[in-house]
Amino acid sequence: MTDTATQPVADTAATSTDDEPAYDVPADATAHTCSYCGRPFARESWLALHRGLAHPNELGDEEIEAFRAAHSEEEESLSTFRLQALGALVLLYFGFLMVYALV
Ligand SMILES: [Zn+2]
Repeated sequence: MTDTATQPVADTAATSTDDEPAYDVPADATAHTCSYCGRPFARESWLALHRGLAHPNELGDEEIEAFRAAHSEEEESLSTFRLQALGALVLLYFGFLMVYALV
């Protein structure tokens, strides 16, 4: 037995520490990087949401406005999703009810 066999595999892979997650950004992707913590995001609106949630006290007026716009957009698509999910559940419920009534 040699010592190299017991070396953890993670040593070769990561330059990051435990509390700082590594980000795997593809080379051809455009990343919107947070100017406060360096975290990359695929979309501008996700970066705006992150800035508002993770760095609320460091934002300028423009960034706050971007966060509010992204937040209300997110709320809108969430409520659309909730309505669709509720509709699907109602359809499923009455579908099973009809199957139960007929069989
Ligand atoms: Zn950040």
